[in-house]
Amino acid sequence: MHEVKKSKAIEEAGIWQVKYYLYYLEERGVSELKAKIDYPLIKENRTVELTEEDRIRLREIIEKIYEIQDMEQPPDSRERKICRKCACQDLCLI
Ligand code: SF4
Repeated sequence: MHEVKKSKAIEEAGIWQVKYYLYYLEERGVSELKAKIDYPLIKENRTVELTEEDRIRLREIIEKIYEIQDMEQPPDSRERKICRKCACQDLCLI
C-alpha cells in the first residue's frame, strides 16, 4: 500500500490512519501487508506495519467509537487545534 502525505511534518495521526487501513484490510482477509508513506514536501518516507500492540489499540479505539455512536448526546464538541487542519471539517458538526 502506498500513501502520499502533503504535510510538511510526519504526523502520528497520519501514521495511525494508514495503520487503520492495514487493520481494515487484514480483518477482511488481506494480511501481511506493509504500507509506505511518502512525504514529498520534506523528502521523507516511512514504512508502516501492524504490530499486535497496534491491533489491540485499534480495537480499543473502534470500541470507543461505537460507545460514542450509542450516546444520546455527543461528548464535548469544542473545536480543537487539530480541527483547523482536518479534512473532515466540512462534514463535522463543529
Ligand atoms: S472530525 Fe471534527 S472534531 Fe474531529 S478533528 Fe475533524 S473537525 Fe475536529
